[in-house]
Amino acid sequence: MSDPMTARTLSMAAPEALLVAERPGPRDPRPGLSGLEPAVLAAWLRDRAVPAYRAKQVRDHLWTRSDGTFAAMQTLPAPLRAELEAAFRADALMETDVRPADAGLTEKALHMLDDGTVVESVSMHYPPRAGRRERHTICISSQAGCAVGCPFCATGELGFGRDLDVAEMVDQVRFWQRRLTPAGSHVTNVVFMGMGEPLLNAERVFAAAAALTDPERFGLGARHVTISTSGVVPGIEALSALRPRYTLAVSLHAARPELRDVLVPLNRRYPAARVVEAATAYAEATGRRVSYEVVMIEGINDTPVDAAAMARLLRGRLVHVNLIPMNPVAHTPWQPSSPERIAVFAAILEAAGVATTVRHNRGIEIGAACGQLAAERAGTPSPAAVARRRELLERQSAAALVGAAAR
Ligand code: SAH
Ligand code: SF4
Repeated sequence: MSDPMTARTLSMAAPEALLVAERPGPRDPRPGLSGLEPAVLAAWLRDRAVPAYRAKQVRDHLWTRSDGTFAAMQTLPAPLRAELEAAFRADALMETDVRPADAGLTEKALHMLDDGTVVESVSMHYPPRAGRRERHTICISSQAGCAVGCPFCATGELGFGRDLDVAEMVDQVRFWQRRLTPAGSHVTNVVFMGMGEPLLNAERVFAAAAALTDPERFGLGARHVTISTSGVVPGIEALSALRPRYTLAVSLHAARPELRDVLVPLNRRYPAARVVEAATAYAEATGRRVSYEVVMIEGINDTPVDAAAMARLLRGRLVHVNLIPMNPVAHTPWQPSSPERIAVFAAILEAAGVATTVRHNRGIEIGAACGQLAAERAGTPSPAAVARRRELLERQSAAALVGAAAR
């Protein structure tokens, strides 16, 4: 095809080429169909005198079948398909490269968007067990790269690319649903834990979550959608005002300000105490328990002093803490905490009445499932850059630890 928008295909044979689009090309002016508000699509169809039963067929192709091409929408007459194709894109993802992990229980995808930007999503399959139905959890990206720059995170290392639009988020889920449909299976959970900080792209993230939970569209239960944030207070407040029943996950990582400043640089703007207040207000507005994620880094944030500080910050609130051993990334000197240190940390939280779970290294349970692939594709930084980064982190975290010892 000679369409300039689709000419930037990626070669499945040479996946290393995937992330080379450092300077993304122009955007396709046609909006993705799944990102349209239903009223907008309905009006577009009405303007063309498309009968109501045809409008319903379009919705079925989009949401029930998750069709990714207009050619697949066979029940529609060819002229309508052509008109739709001239105005919209059936799929906001141009090309996708899927690779299995964990013996097929986890699958990771790299999606190329219209301008050559690459983002990542992950599908985690949980077989049925002990009376529980099978689950398929999809972890999606909300931005290409991330501006927050948490030093333990592969996406943070990429820096910020751009916000994803609504269709680009929703179509990551539709992509995985298409793969599940032949087996009669459904996406059961969606987590915004891929690349990017969802609450720095809040309006579009809320619109994508609304599309995914609308019974007339993708139809997930609101409780089955999780929005994870590094602590964007205005975003948490905006979410509270909407009063959805989504799960809010806060990436806390440390309670002491001097250490959280290093691990989550956004802490300088929105300190943990304010984040926890905003998240508590969310719990009160929605009745939903807030999850707190703590990536456990050996000798850095896993000390008893840090556990005690976290216990003081969270005790008496409707929370659940997840302790997740850090997934090692190339540019840091850090390693995951040992199970013994994690157990001590968990015991201190539990003793303060803070519900705590230790997660194991699988899929989303390491969070880092997302973002890692894309960073790998971005190429290895020069050894000198890695060495500088490591030295800086060692200095900063050592200073934060001295702060802990002085208390
Ligand atoms: N920006 C949002 C959502 C995307 S990151 C946020 O930070 O919450 C999703 C989760 O992956 C976060 O909890 C993050 O802390 C975690 N994560 C990032 N890098 C990781 C690593 N190397 N090991 C383990 N978890 C990591
Ligand atoms: Fe961004 Fe989340 Fe990674 Fe921090 S952990 S850099 S907020 S994606």
